[in-house]
Amino acid sequence: MSRPEVIAARFLSFDQMYNYERRLQSFSDWPFREDCQCTPELMAKAGFVHCPSENEPDVACCFYCLKELEGWEPQDAPWAEHAKRSPDCAFLQMKSYDELTAIEFFRLEHGRIRNYLRKMAHMKIARFRDEVENTIKSLQIFLDILP
Ligand SMILES: [Zn+2]
Repeated sequence: MSRPEVIAARFLSFDQMYNYERRLQSFSDWPFREDCQCTPELMAKAGFVHCPSENEPDVACCFYCLKELEGWEPQDAPWAEHAKRSPDCAFLQMKSYDELTAIEFFRLEHGRIRNYLRKMAHMKIARFRDEVENTIKSLQIFLDILP
């Protein structure tokens, strides 16, 4: 999973990714192209943006729910994977971007912002829990060695 700073940077740029062509452009270095289910076209149609890193070249992230998926196999179907891993993602029910009214777009943006804030809050809570557990362990060690 990416760090909060990476998620924040993605979130800020993903407002441009309602557009299919822009998502498709992100897959210029995507490793799966032929004889597979997860072509760049199908990845982009399923809402994914290619977000490679040095250690994880096949990370794809939904621009809307920010769900990250990696470890793609040629037989993986992007839409089905998205629906399985993030069944409540509003992108999966979204009509074409060109058909959205202004109100519908603003409601979707509201949901996208809410998704981002939830993801960041969960990451910070998890980080805080880890720090508490580590502090308890180190204090316990300290107490154990006291006479
Ligand atoms: Zn999604």
